[in-house]
Amino acid sequence: SIDTLHQHRHGVDVTFRQGGSRTFDLVLGADGLHSHTRRLQFGPEELFHRYLGYCFAGFTLRNTFGLVRETTMWNAPGRAAVLYAVGDDDDVHGFLNFARTEPPFDAFRDPEAQRDLVAEVFDGAGWEVPGMLAALRDADDLFFDVVSQIRMPHWSSGRVALVGDAAYAPSFLTGQGSSLALVGAYMLAGSLAAEHDHAAGFAAYERDTRAFVTLNQDQVGKGDAALFPTTARALEQRNTMLRSLGSMPPPAEGRPAHEALVLPEFRLRG
Ligand SMILES: Cc1cc2nc3c(=O)[nH]c(=O)nc-3n(C[C@H](O)[C@H](O)[C@H](O)COP(=O)(O)OP(=O)(O)OC[C@H]3O[C@@H](n4cnc5c(N)ncnc54)[C@H](O)[C@@H]3O)c2cc1C
Repeated sequence: SIDTLHQHRHGVDVTFRQGGSRTFDLVLGADGLHSHTRRLQFGPEELFHRYLGYCFAGFTLRNTFGLVRETTMWNAPGRAAVLYAVGDDDDVHGFLNFARTEPPFDAFRDPEAQRDLVAEVFDGAGWEVPGMLAALRDADDLFFDVVSQIRMPHWSSGRVALVGDAAYAPSFLTGQGSSLALVGAYMLAGSLAAEHDHAAGFAAYERDTRAFVTLNQDQVGKGDAALFPTTARALEQRNTMLRSLGSMPPPAEGRPAHEALVLPEFRLRG
């Protein structure tokens, strides 16, 4: 992990947290939503963080439900419990997702406070939720976070650039995070290879990728992305939409946001 970054005309001096230092031509931060590289070069996360009004806890629990490659979900307005069996395993992933107007600042960095908060929010819920809350108490892989996006005015500064969630996390409410990260990495690599220097490469990466990123980030709360409604009426509408999915033909026009960028063939400079 990077400890310090220092840019100069010919490179970036990097010292590593576990010791050692090196000078690189470029530094590309691909270290996710809470990017440390971003903080070092561009400033604190609060400058770029857009809270979307939800928190979630993810953890592993025993698959006593007989789930095989399937997901089941329980909902009430503003609350969702999900059991997700990726394969045919002894374990399943549990997610407890809930709406909250303000981020729970007190619970950050305190797993016990996170467990307490989730238990309080889901108190009295039916279905498999009591068992999930019991499993959450014992889970040693609890992952708790707020649901948020990263929006930055620029993705590079000098010889340092960001890619993926570090630069433009769209949140799982869009289902597009992996696509943006992969498309962004392709566009960044291609732009660097095709342009005459890193400044032109970073500028081309941003110029040719930003509209696609913004369109996908703007999907939050629209159509398929309205997955976790906070009112009974919106929940009913979502359920009606989900029930009809099986019988509906795919939309003729496809999904405009998903297809808004055709990956270019880059011509590499010799
Ligand atoms: C619950 C949940 C469900 C999701 N569902 C979907 C979905 O259905 N579809 C979808 O497309 N996307 C989904 N996403 C989003 C998707 O996971 C991310 O958008 C995607 O992983 C971003 O890729 P990335 O490579 O930019 O960052 P990450 O996958 O976050 O990778 C960053 C890497 O950097 C490492 N790292 C972090 N800090 C440091 C450091 N200081 N030093 C060194 N290394 C560091 C991390 O360990 C990690 O390996 C979901 C996310 C969550 C949380």
